[in-house]
Amino acid sequence: MEKGVLIADLFRNEHEYIGKKTLVQGWVRTKRDSKAGIGFIELNDGSCLKNLQVIAELEHPDYGELLKRITTGSAILVEGTLSLSPGKGQSVELRAERIHLYGWADPALYPLQKKRHSFEYLRQIAHLRPRTNTIGAAARVRNRLSYAIHQFFQDLGFHYIHTPIITASDCEGAGEIFRVTTLDPAHPVFEGEDPYRNDFFAKPAFLTVSGQLQAEIYALALGRVYSFGPTFRAENSNTSRHLAEFWMVEPEMAFFDLKDDLDLAQAFIKKLVTVALNDCREDLEFFARFIEPELTGRLQTAAESAFEVISYTEAVDILLKSAEQFSFPVEWGHDLQAEHERYLTERVFRKPVGIVNFPRSLKPFYMRVNDDEKTVAAMDILVPGTGEIIGGSQREERPEMLLEQMRLKGISADDYKWYLELRQFGSVPHSGFGLGLERLMQFVTGIPNIREVIPFPRTPGHAEF
Ligand code: ATP
Ligand code: MN
Repeated sequence: MEKGVLIADLFRNEHEYIGKKTLVQGWVRTKRDSKAGIGFIELNDGSCLKNLQVIAELEHPDYGELLKRITTGSAILVEGTLSLSPGKGQSVELRAERIHLYGWADPALYPLQKKRHSFEYLRQIAHLRPRTNTIGAAARVRNRLSYAIHQFFQDLGFHYIHTPIITASDCEGAGEIFRVTTLDPAHPVFEGEDPYRNDFFAKPAFLTVSGQLQAEIYALALGRVYSFGPTFRAENSNTSRHLAEFWMVEPEMAFFDLKDDLDLAQAFIKKLVTVALNDCREDLEFFARFIEPELTGRLQTAAESAFEVISYTEAVDILLKSAEQFSFPVEWGHDLQAEHERYLTERVFRKPVGIVNFPRSLKPFYMRVNDDEKTVAAMDILVPGTGEIIGGSQREERPEMLLEQMRLKGISADDYKWYLELRQFGSVPHSGFGLGLERLMQFVTGIPNIREVIPFPRTPGHAEF
């Protein structure tokens, strides 16, 4: 099959193509005819935001008739000569000598006509929405960030570990966890019968809420590891920053304390933001122009200046002293709500903020208990516009303290025998964190709703496509 040049390559290396025969393939964004017998086609092939302007002759002996049938949404091939454009708005244009129509789009039915569509509407046509500027740009940024995540860790000697998606351990889940079963709901179990006797794993099984515990196993063997994969939480919260299925990056490092963990998280975010600023410039300019006017400033601050680091106790003090009316009350020992997080990062510090040393009662059993015995070595990183994007901690490496924590939190030592054994055999201080890729995407693009930064969002009541 004929293969054209990618429009992104063409714009990057214009001088190499000017005056030469050039072939492109893509989808028509718009077409209009001029009185001078010329047709203008804006062609997009997804390789970049910008469309290539195609100049076609309405009376052309070969393609003149075909041209009449070409509509917005049609998939076409154009071969022609690339020329410097005399018109405003583009530097080059393609003078068509040959056009082929692969697939027509009926203008009476094609939903993406040239006008702005709401994000809500676009979600209902998730099979077509990547052909819009916003969703296309988000997909390209997401791709670049995913690659940068691997680059960052690989350069630092981390090993990529595939932690399981199906798991029988439910350490954080309680009520937020999806069950995995092959039992047929139409055939209920009988009283007294072991409900899992005929189930696939012969015991309760779930979709993972985090790969951390398994990553710890590998960190205590390979030193520095990370997992990066789908993560599932059945949170029944319809917010703009929660999905039922999202992608989490979870590094886990032996011989790292909380300070090292925080330093790594900061370097990580700085690197990802810098990559986006450098390599996704066109897409980010689009977001800054149409989605979030403060975007560029926020990203530059995140890339250049040191994050603010405060303790949970300090955060509570700041919130208590503020004149702000919060809908959730602030009190030491209570979780910080999204509104509190955003107030701290957007209003008080106006840059990313690390919060460390949370109340022991708020955090899971595996976080390392501090000397005050009231707090644990936990950290959250908050960014303007999104709030929390990273949650992490130093892990409890002392076997007696871990047992004590499990007892306090009602976690069965039998179920986590292997986790305890990691503390009995060559235990070391170690730390890690989890970054939600979609929260990072929200921060980097300024897109307000998390449903627009993942190709196919899963939320309560929604698993279409
Ligand atoms: P939140 O309080 O914002 O619901 P969390 O404290 O439950 O998040 P963690 O368990 O710390 O989240 O998970 C680590 C990271 O994973 C979070 O900082 C966030 O970036 C991301 N994350 C967690 N839950 C979700 C979700 N439902 N959808 C998208 N990303 C999520
Ligand atoms: Mn968290």
